[in-house]
Amino acid sequence: MPAAAPTPKAVLHQRFGAKARYTVEEVREDMGGCPGLAPQTRSVYRCALDLPGLSVTTPGTFLRKKDAEQAAAQIALDKLGIQPATNIPSTPEEAWDELIARISGFLVDENFLSSSHPLVGHLSVTLRRTGDLIGRIPMSAVAACDMKVNTLCKVIDPKAEFDPLLILSLIYNAAKQSPGVFVSDNNFWIQSQKPYSLEAVDLALKRWSDMSDPIEVEAILVPCVLEDEPKTVRINLQHNEHYMGYIAAKLSVIDSSHVLVSRTIGKASSEIRLYFAAPNVQFVSDLSKNVLACHGDGNINCQVNKRASYISGQTIYGDAILANIGYTRRDSELHTEDVNLCTYYRILLGKLPDGNYKMSRDSILAAELPSVYSRSSWKGLCPRDLLCSFCRLQRLPEPHFAVSRVSASCEVVGSAASSEEREVPLKTVENQYTNDVRINKENPDMFKCKVKIYSRKQEILLEYSAADTSSKESDAIQNSALKVLIWFNNYFKQLNTKMDNPSLSECTHHFKVHLNNFMQEFAMCFSVYGKTGGNDSRMCSAVGPSSMDTPKQQLENSATLTHIEGPDSGVFPTHGSLTCISYTASLVMKDEAKIYLLESNNEFEFEIGTSAVSYQLESCVTQLSVNQTACFVAEPPPRDLILAAVTEFSHDLSKISRESCFLEFSVKVLQVTEPLEDRMEKALFSPPLSKQRVEFAVRHINELHATTLVDFGCGSGSLLDSLLEHSTTLEKIVGVDISRKGLTRAAKSLHQKLSKKSLMQTSVPSAVLYDGSITDYDSRLYGVDIGTCLEVIEHMEEDQASLFGNIVLSSFRPTVLIVSTPNYEYNPILQRSAMHKEDEPEENTGPCKFRNHDHKFEWTRAQFQCWATELAVKHNYGVEFCGVGGSGEEPGYASQIAVFRKMKRDQEEICLNNDHDQPYELLWEWPNA
Ligand code: SAH
Ligand code: MG
Repeated sequence: MPAAAPTPKAVLHQRFGAKARYTVEEVREDMGGCPGLAPQTRSVYRCALDLPGLSVTTPGTFLRKKDAEQAAAQIALDKLGIQPATNIPSTPEEAWDELIARISGFLVDENFLSSSHPLVGHLSVTLRRTGDLIGRIPMSAVAACDMKVNTLCKVIDPKAEFDPLLILSLIYNAAKQSPGVFVSDNNFWIQSQKPYSLEAVDLALKRWSDMSDPIEVEAILVPCVLEDEPKTVRINLQHNEHYMGYIAAKLSVIDSSHVLVSRTIGKASSEIRLYFAAPNVQFVSDLSKNVLACHGDGNINCQVNKRASYISGQTIYGDAILANIGYTRRDSELHTEDVNLCTYYRILLGKLPDGNYKMSRDSILAAELPSVYSRSSWKGLCPRDLLCSFCRLQRLPEPHFAVSRVSASCEVVGSAASSEEREVPLKTVENQYTNDVRINKENPDMFKCKVKIYSRKQEILLEYSAADTSSKESDAIQNSALKVLIWFNNYFKQLNTKMDNPSLSECTHHFKVHLNNFMQEFAMCFSVYGKTGGNDSRMCSAVGPSSMDTPKQQLENSATLTHIEGPDSGVFPTHGSLTCISYTASLVMKDEAKIYLLESNNEFEFEIGTSAVSYQLESCVTQLSVNQTACFVAEPPPRDLILAAVTEFSHDLSKISRESCFLEFSVKVLQVTEPLEDRMEKALFSPPLSKQRVEFAVRHINELHATTLVDFGCGSGSLLDSLLEHSTTLEKIVGVDISRKGLTRAAKSLHQKLSKKSLMQTSVPSAVLYDGSITDYDSRLYGVDIGTCLEVIEHMEEDQASLFGNIVLSSFRPTVLIVSTPNYEYNPILQRSAMHKEDEPEENTGPCKFRNHDHKFEWTRAQFQCWATELAVKHNYGVEFCGVGGSGEEPGYASQIAVFRKMKRDQEEICLNNDHDQPYELLWEWPNA
C-alpha cells in the first residue's frame, strides 16, 4: 500500500470530523461555442467550507467537485496554520531511518521537552522521580502519542496498522539503533542515555502540571474469554506515578513496559484505548533479532481477544482494559474520563450499520433505521454520513459513490461525478417514465448512484447499483447509501440470530457481493456475533434489534395495548404523516416489583410507514389520536441494547435474565403533521382536494338517484363520513378495505355521526364495513348503483390495480364506477408550490418521485386513460375522464378521475349472486343487527 500524504480534507477531518461542512455549488459556465448554435455550457464547482469559527469559499471554480473541496480545505488549513504531515517517506528503508531518527529526537533533543507533544506529558511524570527511573517510559507510550511514528511503522510494514505488537517490535528495534537512546534488554523501556539539563526539565515540569490529588477512573475489563461479560474496574491514579503502571497492575503484568496500547477508539478526539499485556516476554530477544520476521500470525501462545479486536480493528491479545486516560495536546495535565458499561456498549452499538442512527436520534430502543429517505422528513444523521462512519468504524476505506445522470431522451445530457468519483460515470438511458415526453421537458435530469464498498486491502466487497432515480444528485447518493446500510443491517441481524454461516447470495436486487472477500473481511464480526447470539438464556450478547421484530401480520392482529387514555381528538397519525410522540421504555421485573427506566424521550418525531420504529410501537401509535396515551408490553430487547441505552443501574441490569422481565412502553402522541400529499392537497386547493372528490361523487350520486354505494378502499372512511353530511338519495353505504386500522377508525367515526343523526330523526341509511381485498369478488356487493375507488389503485401494484379493474367491471358490475388517482404530470406544480409555502432550505427543483411513499406508481393522463379505456371496452362500459384540482388545462387536473358507466344491457345479465362468493369479513354494521 503506497503511503500518500494525507489530503487537506483528510487532515481537516482528523481535527474536526463531521464539524467540517462542505457545500458544493454547481455553476454553469459558458464555453463559447459556434455562432448560430445554442451556447455551450458546462458544470463547474465552487466550494464553501464551514468549520467551527471559520468559513472559507474557493475564489475560483473547479471542473471536479472533489478538487473544489480539496481547495477549500487547503485554504482553511492555511488560515488555521495547520501543516499537513507531508514528506512521508515512500520506501520502508527511508521510513526505517526516519523512525530511528525520530525516536532519538524525542529522547535526546532537549528542545523537545519544551514542546506541547503529549509524549512530554509521559516524560515529565517520570522526571519527577528519583534514581535511574528518571525519564524512563514504556515504548507503547511512543506508539500511543505520535501519529508520525505510527505512519512510519505502516510504511515499513503495512500490517502494523492492525497490530500494536508489531508496532512495538518496530519501535524496539529502531530504538536500539537510535543514537543516545537507552533500551533495556529484557523490558520495553526507553530512556535518554544522558540525563537532561535542569533547565530543560524545569520547562517540561512547568508546562505539564502535576496531579494534585489521587484520581479514581472507571474503566472496563474486556475479558478474553467470550463467555465472561465485560465488567467495570476502578483505576486509582496516584500522585507522581505514571498511569500505565496502574493499568499494568490491573492486568497483572510485571511493569508498564509490557503493556501494549491500541489506537484510539470511537470519535477522532477520544483518548479511549485498549490496554493489554504484551504476549510472551521472551519476545524481547526475538524482537531484537529480526524486525520483520519476529511477528508470525499464528505462533503466539496467547489468545486473541475477539471482542477487543473487533472493537479496535487491531489484534489484541488476552484480557484488555478499555480506558480513557492519556496525555493530549489539548490539556497540560493527564486527561482522564470514566469509561463505563454504557460507553462500552455504545462503542459496540456504533459498529452496527444502524447503531449510529439510533444514537444520533438519542433513541436506542425505539428508533430503527427507516426504510425510505426523504429530505424533508429524515431525522438524525443522514444515510451518507451513516454509511461513511460505518465504514470508518469497521476500518474499511470510505465508500465510493458514483452518480450518473439519467435522461429519458435518447441523448444523454451529460454526466455528473460525485466527489469520490473514480471512474467514468455510466451513461444510462433508462427512465421509469419514458413514455411521457412532457415530463422530460420539465425535468431533463434524473440521477442514479452506484455505491462500492472496499475491503481494507482495497478489494471490492459489495457493489450496489440503484434501481430508482432521484431528481437531485444529493438525494441519489442518500438513497443509495441508505439501501447499502439496510443491506448491511440485515446481514448483521443474521449474524446475531443464526448460529450457522449467514446466508449470502452473490447477486440480489441490484447488489453484487464478492463473497470470498466479504467473508474474509467480516470473519471477526462473525466470530464475535455468532458465538454468543441465539437462544442464550442470558439474552444474546451481541447488539442487535432482532428480537424486537415480529412479523407485521402477527402484530396487526394482536392488540397489545393495555388501555388508551384520553379522549379521541380525531387527529390521528396516518400513513406518511410525521408524528411526534413522547415515550418511556422501562424494564419491568416479573416477580420483584421493580421497574428500571431504560430510555425516555420527550419529543421523538418519525414518519409512519417507513419502519422508523419497531412494528409494535408503530402499531400502538397508529391506534392513538393526538393527546392520547397508551402502554404496551413487549419482549425485552437484547442485553447489549439495554446496556447501551441505560446510563444507570447497568450493574443490576447486566445480571438480569431475559425470562424474568418484560419491556413496557408508555407512549403519548403529541402532534401529527399530515403526509406531504395531504398537506399539499389542503394547502394548495380550496376547497381541499379530498373535499372536491367527495363533491364530485355527490354530484354523480344525485344525478343517478343512487340508493346503494360501495367505497372500494375506504380507508378510515373519509368519503362515507362526509356523505352523511350531504343530503343524498343514498339508503345503504358500504366500505371495503384491507386495513383493520383504517376500518376501525371508520367504524368509530361513522358510529358517532350516525348516533347523533338518529337522535335528530333524520333518514338513517344503513352502513356496513367489510374487511377484504377489493381484488376479490364478494357477491353481497353485486350490482350496486355506484362504486367509488378514490386514490386507491396507486397503492396497489400495477397488476393488482388491473385485477381490481377487471373484477369490479366484470363481477361487481356497478351502474357507475368512479376511480381517481394522482396525475403524475401535475407533480412539478405541487412541488413548486410546496417550495413557496414551506420554506424548506434545500428544496427539490424537479418533481418529487411520488407524492406518497406508499404509492406503487403514479400515472400520466395517457397511462391512466389507456388503462381505463381498455377496461371499459373489455367489459362493455363507457368511460369519461375528468378530474379535480386545477383548471384541467395543461398538465391536467391534480387528481384524475375516470367515470365508468354500464352500457344499456342488450341481453339479460346473469346475477352472480352466489353465496359461496363471500370472502369479505363483516366488521361493523349500522344499525346493529
Ligand atoms: N379512499 C380513501 C383511502 C385512500 S388510501 C380516501 O380517499 O381517503 C388507500 C387505501 O386503499 C388504504 O386504506 C388501503 O388500505 C387500501 N387498499 C390498498 N389495497 C387494497 C386492497 N387490495 N383491497 C382493499 N383496500 C386496499
Ligand atoms: Mg394515495
